[in-house]
Amino acid sequence: MKNLKVYNTLVHKKELFHPLRKDRVGLYTCGPTVYNYAHIGNLRTYIFEDVLRRTLEYARYKVKHVMNITDVGHLTSDEDEGEDKLERAAEKEKRSVWDIAKFYTDAFLRDLVSLDIKRAHVLSPATKNIKEEIAIIQELFKKGYAYETSHAVYFNISKFKNYTKLSRQKLSEKITGAREEVVLDSEKRNPQDFALWFKRVGRFENHIMHWHSPWGDGFPGWHIECSAISTKYLGQPFDIHTGGVDHINVHHTNEIAQSEGAYGKPLARIWMHGEFLLINEAKMAKSAGSFYTLHTLTEKNFSPLAVRYLVLTAHYRSKLNFTWESLKAAQNSLERLYDFVRNIKGSTSTSSGTKNDIVRAKLRTYLEKYRNKFEKTIFDDLNTPKALAVVWELIREYNKNPKKFPAKEVLTLLYDFDKVLGLGLKNIQSEKIPKKILALVKRREKLRKDQKWEDADKIREEIQQLGYTLEDTSQGTKVRNLIIRNLRFPIPSLQGNPRSRAAGNSLRD
Ligand code: AMP
Ligand code: ZN
Repeated sequence: MKNLKVYNTLVHKKELFHPLRKDRVGLYTCGPTVYNYAHIGNLRTYIFEDVLRRTLEYARYKVKHVMNITDVGHLTSDEDEGEDKLERAAEKEKRSVWDIAKFYTDAFLRDLVSLDIKRAHVLSPATKNIKEEIAIIQELFKKGYAYETSHAVYFNISKFKNYTKLSRQKLSEKITGAREEVVLDSEKRNPQDFALWFKRVGRFENHIMHWHSPWGDGFPGWHIECSAISTKYLGQPFDIHTGGVDHINVHHTNEIAQSEGAYGKPLARIWMHGEFLLINEAKMAKSAGSFYTLHTLTEKNFSPLAVRYLVLTAHYRSKLNFTWESLKAAQNSLERLYDFVRNIKGSTSTSSGTKNDIVRAKLRTYLEKYRNKFEKTIFDDLNTPKALAVVWELIREYNKNPKKFPAKEVLTLLYDFDKVLGLGLKNIQSEKIPKKILALVKRREKLRKDQKWEDADKIREEIQQLGYTLEDTSQGTKVRNLIIRNLRFPIPSLQGNPRSRAAGNSLRD
């Protein structure tokens, strides 16, 4: 095992990582609220979590990764105000709430595939864990942390010692649902109390998703699902819990209160948080309307993995401001990296054969230096920008004197680095364009010369159907393989179970 250090929000410093059980790591990452497409800000957080999981696996830990899917109970404000995000989307899109959940869950899973993000071993929607959510609330009643009003069941934060230990906020600084909630529910004891269960009364009288509970018909509050799902699959405590920084003050603070209140032991040992992706120096957010989805970017011919590369250029605990220039630069770097891999693949057989054993052993030691450097940076709280710098240092060194290095071993080293970076280096193939495609390109060029634009466009479409894209430049038409460029990606098939259409059949209950 390696000397992996990670920043733990709970203690505000980097700590040497030790798993609770030898060689095994329980990892819980808060999942998406499936009422809309994920934007690339959300995806930045999932990329950070993927790098974390890959780093743990690189360090030879056996990771069990669990993620929830929020398909009920997340209101338009994190502080229990407003409407249920899914029900609002269903109304707006004139579709059933179950269809909305299924549709956006599938879209999320496709985004994961395009970004080479490993899917959690357990992916479980809130609506499939109602029994477990109710059980924790009952436990909270037994321990005196929960109380019931005519509108809801709340967690009484004044009973829980050290409620704001994760955020270190003063209680008075906490934004509360006081404004609307107190007006709606005058029986609420403290403005900062948060809902564990909403009753199907008052503003939620017509709530579509609802279940029986000891407190009447209703639906769970947003935070309880993560307490229920994490403990169900990972036990309590488990090793690492993650999310975006916006979860520190509300969602994770409340998860801790619920789980620790119910079972009297810590929920997770380490809490890690990814910083925001910004746009025009402000948080990328759906509510502000200032966001891009992956689809918007791929339509502009950016590869999803260019987005991943861009995200890796910043440390996960630093803010990153999105600009088109930076995305273009990331795509260029990625293409240069792919070109390097393509070239070196071609030279694999020749350069290593000529060296004698002593020279080879020396070069291997030399390459180990790069491996050590890479590991040192990535094990230092996932320093991806420095890790990328090591990759480029190695490439520069190789390019200075390609004959000096055993190409095969350089490639092996890069593939190993890519186990953490996830830039799809192993999928890089030689970009030989089939004769059939070249013939179509020629035909299209002729049609363009004859100004038969519509026919030329039809051929472009045919070429695209076959997995290639065209770029008209001043030097002629360039053909590129879309699959190699990772602009096209397989769509995971998720057939909905008719009884629980909120999620695909690969999801767990
Ligand atoms: P949601 O689907 O709204 O529950 O958010 C999914 C994840 O994205 C959460 O972990 C959020 O903390 C995170 N997130 C939301 N906005 C951003 C952003 N602009 N940059 C990075 N992460 C974000
Ligand atoms: Zn959560």
